[in-house]
Amino acid sequence: MNRRDFIKTSSIVTLPLLLKSCGWQDEGQPFPVHVHSDAGTGHLVYQSDQYERITGESVEVVIVGGGIAGLAAACKLKDRDFLLFELSSTLGGTSSAYRSEELTFAQGAHYDMGYPKSYGSEVLDLLESLNIISYQPWKEEWGFTDQEHLVMHRRKNQCYDHGEIRKEVIKAGRLRDRFFELLKPYQGQMHLPTRLIDAKYRPLDRLSFVDFLGKNLDLNDQFLAWVGYHTKDDYGADAHAVSALAGIHYFTCRPYNSEIVELFSPPEGNHYFINKMADRVGGDRLKPNHLVKHITETPNGFRIEVIDTINQQVRMVTAKKVVYAGQKHALKYIFPEDASLFANNRYAPWMVVNLVLERSADNWGYWQNEMLTRDETFLGFIDSTTQHKASPRHRVLTAYYCLPPSSRNDLVNVETTKNQIAESTAQHISNYWGKDIRPTLRQVDIKVMGHAMPIPGKGYLFDDKNQYRKNSNIVYAGVDNSRLPLLFEAVDSGIIAAGMI
Ligand SMILES: Cc1cc2nc3c(=O)[nH]c(=O)nc-3n(C[C@H](O)[C@H](O)[C@H](O)COP(=O)(O)OP(=O)(O)OC[C@H]3O[C@@H](n4cnc5c(N)ncnc54)[C@H](O)[C@@H]3O)c2cc1C
Repeated sequence: MNRRDFIKTSSIVTLPLLLKSCGWQDEGQPFPVHVHSDAGTGHLVYQSDQYERITGESVEVVIVGGGIAGLAAACKLKDRDFLLFELSSTLGGTSSAYRSEELTFAQGAHYDMGYPKSYGSEVLDLLESLNIISYQPWKEEWGFTDQEHLVMHRRKNQCYDHGEIRKEVIKAGRLRDRFFELLKPYQGQMHLPTRLIDAKYRPLDRLSFVDFLGKNLDLNDQFLAWVGYHTKDDYGADAHAVSALAGIHYFTCRPYNSEIVELFSPPEGNHYFINKMADRVGGDRLKPNHLVKHITETPNGFRIEVIDTINQQVRMVTAKKVVYAGQKHALKYIFPEDASLFANNRYAPWMVVNLVLERSADNWGYWQNEMLTRDETFLGFIDSTTQHKASPRHRVLTAYYCLPPSSRNDLVNVETTKNQIAESTAQHISNYWGKDIRPTLRQVDIKVMGHAMPIPGKGYLFDDKNQYRKNSNIVYAGVDNSRLPLLFEAVDSGIIAAGMI
């Protein structure tokens, strides 16, 4: 297939199919396409048997994982003796960012929204102590300190639905009105973190969102596709797969319909929060490029095998306690004693494609461009022109793909299909804007995340696995411990874990 033929047909090639076509020949690209992935981890573990072993290191606490949860724990433990190990070359996990001299852009989580008074005080206190938010008594609410990163309301979002442009994903009409009427009683009751939600609402976690809606509304496929777009965007799966509580939470946790809710989105996305937390803790105790390979219980605590991927050494660290804030699917290799606790977790893989364009005079856009196309894994893109301090020479479009768990193994093919992925993403956006963006493309970065987002399906929430752990000196944090995949939950999980050891 030559390049021109591909361009003609690319709009109908879905990402899952594209990933399967790894034998595809292509002619290369006039711009670099980089792939960022931790897929080589397995190979590294295997190779590390040859590495020199360094013994004798001892700390009170080891934190596994430098995402939001691990760093929140580190902030709470900052006056204690700890080391935090992160396998990637940068901190952040699913809230990471790319930085070069000229460019900064998010490679995962992109935003957070203002915090109603009913949200958990532990997280609010930490964010306040980091000077991220402050209480505004005249408004009786919390506000972000760096106001310049608030997105202007009129540029917040626009939806492209198979060629039709409108403001909201869920089209105005009687069914939409009835949907929001149905959800009204839950407004103000859906707290964050979810552990604060009143027990009377918890049975909603055992029902699917679609079953809850179906009991009350005359649903149709079109309407479910719109609702499913939203739940996929934040929770990695459609209305059939997420629980009623997760779905209701999505639409009612903030007063979206009655007030303007602050939307905070710096160019580096939620890596902004990572930087604030890392600054608080101090860099020397935070160790990127360190993979925790195995944790063994000992009479005095734990012996932890850590691969230093830069120096190609294995550090044998002893610790009295462990905060485990890495994704739990790998526990079966790292600490098999507790792996069964998380055996029912399901994760949605995600791919984030950053298209770096040359900036032109025509620079008006919407922050979130919600797109419904034949490729249901493609969710649209964020446009850097709506962000403060975005690069003066470039326009960065951050496109998001949420894949079904069944596509995870095909992600190993991204390196061989990267040019087609870049083309296909550019094609989606060209269709939306009605102009070919490829002549102005200068660089493409593809971030691949296999176990990116725990899906809050039926029975997922309100079951903190710390209740059942075998050893009280190892504590679990992270959004994949019975929490919604949201920044506020991740921070809370780190705070709670730190408080337990
Ligand atoms: C594409 C995408 C977009 C998102 N957008 C938003 C958003 O805009 N707003 C929002 O609130 N939420 C968003 N989320 C949800 C986001 O996942 C959470 O808000 C939060 O960042 C999760 O943090 P965490 O620390 O629980 O997990 P993670 O971010 O997954 O962090 C876990 C860390 O542990 C490390 N690790 C794992 N195993 C090991 C090991 N053995 N040794 C060393 N390190 C290890 C990993 O490399 C990773 O850095 C998004 C998620 C995705 C995937």
